Amino acid sequence: MIRTALRTAAALLGAGLIWAGVSYDAPQAQAPAGGVVAFTGARVIDGTGAAPMEGATIVVSDGRIQAVGRNVSIPAGATRVDMSGKTIVPGLVNAHGHLQADASKRPARDRLTSQLRMYADYGITTVQVLGLPLDDVPDGIKLRDESRAGGAAVDRARVLIAAASLRNLKTEQEARDWGNKYADMKVDIIKMHITGGPMDMTPAVYGALIDTAHKRGIRAAAHMLYLKDAKGLLDKGIDVLAHSIRDQPVDQATIAAIKAKDVEYIPTLTRDIAQFIYEGTPPYFTDAFFTRHIPNSYYSAEMAKLKDPANQDKIKKDQTAQTTKTWLDQGRKNLKTLSDAGVTIALGTDTGTNEGQWQGYFEHIELEEMVKSGMTPMQAIVAGTGGAAKAANVQQQLGTIAAGKQADLLVLNANPLTDIRNTRQIHSVWIAGRRLASVNGTN
Ligand SMILES: [Zn+2]
Repeated sequence: MIRTALRTAAALLGAGLIWAGVSYDAPQAQAPAGGVVAFTGARVIDGTGAAPMEGATIVVSDGRIQAVGRNVSIPAGATRVDMSGKTIVPGLVNAHGHLQADASKRPARDRLTSQLRMYADYGITTVQVLGLPLDDVPDGIKLRDESRAGGAAVDRARVLIAAASLRNLKTEQEARDWGNKYADMKVDIIKMHITGGPMDMTPAVYGALIDTAHKRGIRAAAHMLYLKDAKGLLDKGIDVLAHSIRDQPVDQATIAAIKAKDVEYIPTLTRDIAQFIYEGTPPYFTDAFFTRHIPNSYYSAEMAKLKDPANQDKIKKDQTAQTTKTWLDQGRKNLKTLSDAGVTIALGTDTGTNEGQWQGYFEHIELEEMVKSGMTPMQAIVAGTGGAAKAANVQQQLGTIAAGKQADLLVLNANPLTDIRNTRQIHSVWIAGRRLASVNGTN
């Protein structure tokens, strides 16, 4: 029945009918569950930073990777899938995303699901949502539970949830109360905003929040910009720095603290780029990898607005937007410094919040920007897989290709080690060993 639906959809597309409005809501077909599948002949980049394996085999059953390597024996009766010429990397993980791009009045589950499908269609198979409006949290948690590694396979990105970001709390008691309230809601992580402004929580207050999170077995991530705030947060035990340090060069003491406390660092370079790039029409507005989805999704109105010359003029004259260019420059330098120092860098984009930060597409741009900032393609891939999985605290199950891990795989038609932009040459996306049907048949 699902196959028939797909064929019908394909026929509609073939007939030139626009599949608008239904793309992200239509159930997606997947390869049948069960049985053993062996992917053969691929170049495998496992997400740990190890050298790629050429001509490797990955054996998958029950949604998990059973074996990977060059000399793996293929069980009798396994379905062989010839992947020669392809490169297989772990499904990408976005350790800092959001689910607020679909601002329609539809039920929360529909809005959230369509956005998780958008991510998955671009090969982003796990998203850590660092801030979700409180009204959406119950549905978000339900989707999280359904997508838990080891559970039933899902046809959308797996999701981890922080509730609404906490900011401007006045007392330690207030911070503890919120921390406990969120823990009772079963969130995965607590997110806080330290902006450098006068209303910020004091270190004592955010320290109480971080402490409460840890007492309840939850990690804590912070939005921040300034070096002094990063230092304060590290001192109080923050687990994840969710943006770049952007006001000045990161110093040796801070590098040492990040390493000693094993904190993950999420640069979100595209977040800064999005602040000013719409002073003109960005080149990717004509990139097929971008346009294949955007115009027919909840993003079409946003794209129209960002192309409007009046809006572009406003951004040209916006002081904050222009200052962000300097911040981005400093953020890039700090990323290179921290990456060279061996800090765990994690892919994160802040997509799905502000205008012009595109879920799915911008994760690929972020990888490219990491490389432009001085990281190697391999380092960027590790940031987008093993590193981001660690920042989402799912590294035991996801983010690398190894026996026992979930079979979330991104199969590419070209090698991203020779050009990081090849992460966009998507052949297919697999979640828990099942192939995701592309919403428009291009994957
Ligand atoms: Zn964010």
